[in-house]
Amino acid sequence: MPDHSSPEDPASRTAADLAYAAYGDQVKIDSALCKKLAAEVALREPTQRRVDQKLNIERRSNVEALLAHMTGQSAPKPCKNCHKGHGPWTQCVVYDGQMCGSCTNCWFNASGSRCTFHENNHPQPQTLFAASVAASANLMALQPPALSQSTSPNANINLSADITQWGLSESTKQLITQTITDVATFSRRDRFLARIEAAAKELGMRIAEYEEFLRTPEGMAEQNAALERERAQNSHTQATEASMADAPPDEILS
Ligand SMILES: [Zn+2]
Ligand SMILES: [Zn+2]
Repeated sequence: MPDHSSPEDPASRTAADLAYAAYGDQVKIDSALCKKLAAEVALREPTQRRVDQKLNIERRSNVEALLAHMTGQSAPKPCKNCHKGHGPWTQCVVYDGQMCGSCTNCWFNASGSRCTFHENNHPQPQTLFAASVAASANLMALQPPALSQSTSPNANINLSADITQWGLSESTKQLITQTITDVATFSRRDRFLARIEAAAKELGMRIAEYEEFLRTPEGMAEQNAALERERAQNSHTQATEASMADAPPDEILS
């Protein structure tokens, strides 16, 4: 940890101490969240990706990002933006329960909604994480490693991120994400059964749709026309058969 010419033990320095040391008195600690974070022990220095970058620390959400960056947990795998080298600081840090789940780098300059960890992009981070862990555990127990690729936690997270770009309504997004999350916890047997159940439901819905159609005027007209054609066909066939039976063989050949 670099020395900030403070005689104190770095381990006991608060986020406020480090914030003032790094950014001077442009740091304004006024919101409730800022005050809470500022009083916590700093777990890391706010190390900038580009040392000479001038950060706008006067903005309240940016102070929150700074303080949370020093006091939160570093993500086991960085968000997409941090991975690409975006955001002011070198680490991807999330403060549990704050900033809508987004990392501090994305929260900086109000870009939280672009973070792959943001709750809107990732509606149940806890559930999804637990589900992914459970799924990985299941897969590791049941399958050779090659097969575990298809339901790895990353696949789920990427899919969740994609869903947000499909322009679906909030409730549909929730439903899809919940379903993906549920499926991630399934064993192979559960997945086979789920597929059969899904196919049975699909068949049921198609039959129901067809029956609904038959009750519409258009459906009734078509159904009647089809019955009519069938009846005409049958009587024609019967008539032909009858005349063939009556007629002498040479007459048919000529
Ligand atoms: Zn990040
Ligand atoms: Zn992020």
